[in-house]
Amino acid sequence: MTSKSLEKIGRQIEQTFLARTGKSRERDQLARMYLPGGDTRSTLYYSPYPVYMQHGSGCRLYDWDGNAYLDFLSNYSALIHGHAHPEITQAACKEMAKGTIFGAPAEIQFLHARHLCERVPGIDSVRYCNSGTEATMLALRAARAFTGKDAIIKMDGGYHGSHDVAEVNLVADTEACGLPSHNIGRGVPACIGADVIIAPFNDLNVMESLLDRHKDRLAALIVEPIMGAGGLLNPHPGYLRGLRELTQRFDILLIFDEIITFRLNRGGMQAIEEVTPDLTTLGKIIGGGFPVGAFGGRADIMTVFDPASPRAVGHGGTFNGNNVTLAAGLVALEMYDQASIKRLNLLGDRLRHGFTQVLKSAGILGHLSGRGSLMSLHLGREMPRNAAEAARGAGANKSLSRVLHLQLANLGVHSAPRGMYIVSTPMSEEEVDHAVGAFEEALELLKPAVKESWPHLLTT
Ligand code: PMP
Repeated sequence: MTSKSLEKIGRQIEQTFLARTGKSRERDQLARMYLPGGDTRSTLYYSPYPVYMQHGSGCRLYDWDGNAYLDFLSNYSALIHGHAHPEITQAACKEMAKGTIFGAPAEIQFLHARHLCERVPGIDSVRYCNSGTEATMLALRAARAFTGKDAIIKMDGGYHGSHDVAEVNLVADTEACGLPSHNIGRGVPACIGADVIIAPFNDLNVMESLLDRHKDRLAALIVEPIMGAGGLLNPHPGYLRGLRELTQRFDILLIFDEIITFRLNRGGMQAIEEVTPDLTTLGKIIGGGFPVGAFGGRADIMTVFDPASPRAVGHGGTFNGNNVTLAAGLVALEMYDQASIKRLNLLGDRLRHGFTQVLKSAGILGHLSGRGSLMSLHLGREMPRNAAEAARGAGANKSLSRVLHLQLANLGVHSAPRGMYIVSTPMSEEEVDHAVGAFEEALELLKPAVKESWPHLLTT
């Protein structure tokens, strides 16, 4: 939806963006000659072009034109301690000086693994890989190998990386008025869909009937305890416990994808909710800013990977558990202790409260989802319950959200185009309050456009 006001304000915002980021534009044009769309990570793209950052320090990023930004993206929640943290840098450099990977097991691997096993209730033993995508792919494979069944149930709009199964209903079915129907990413074989069942998040009744109907062929249910890419959607009270009870009743493995939510507590969201899954996937913060993924769980399931056991499931990967990632990751995790987690979650609460107050005083309807250090903005009257509702809302406000994101960049706040805001440990109340101030300033500028084109978003 566009209006005269939005066109005018949007043009003004975009012109400011173009004027401040000329060096990014030059780089984007060059990059497009060698990389399709100018990058290797689709998530990072936004129009007219994404800002090129030159360096980062703590919670600040600096672009090629010399503009400074507060980093409320944290590489999509992976950088818990911000950029170039001295202790993490030192740990990585020390490891690099000894050699990056030996083609033989390294001690750092079991030190890191011991830390995770002691920390996460559902992890007795763990394996490493290089991305969250691999972690969820291998957790699903473990579930299939262990149960001897092929089918998987996942949430409509649930994101678990970019392997084939994860691509089924990566985009939520916004047209659904009953059960979501399948959509499969281009390039993924259609046959993949046959073994993927799709359920809406936060609906235990639908889940019960799907599990009952498909129990004989279901190996596992995979879910993020808070749906991240779906819009940081919180589970309703009792929902995760309900999933645990249902999966136990129907003899189906439960996998928690805690690649984002692990940061919320020493033991992840499973420790907060006191619900222990059979398998857990981790990534992002556990690698100290280096590429990483991990999957772990019940010892009897994880033994399918024991190379000495008959018919072991193979798990290769030239850089699995590489020394630099795990040395940096272990330091990052050790620093992220209960006190630090508590402080960060409180900062996140301050951000959520600040944004909520700004919406209220601007008279604009919206909700801030997520918890602790993770937050997403949803403009609209109701808090979405599932990814389809969130996507419907986001679709209706798309052009508004786009200029809001650009204007926040103009005001020195680096954030996700989809309205996700993440705090990191180098931040203090000052940085959080700066973001709240920027949000207020941006909404003030956009209010005439909201009045003209989205009157249903106004409180009066
Ligand atoms: N699962 C979840 C919940 C994620 O948020 C992500 C990454 N955003 C992934 C899996 C995939 O991780 P990676 O990008 O490291 O492949």
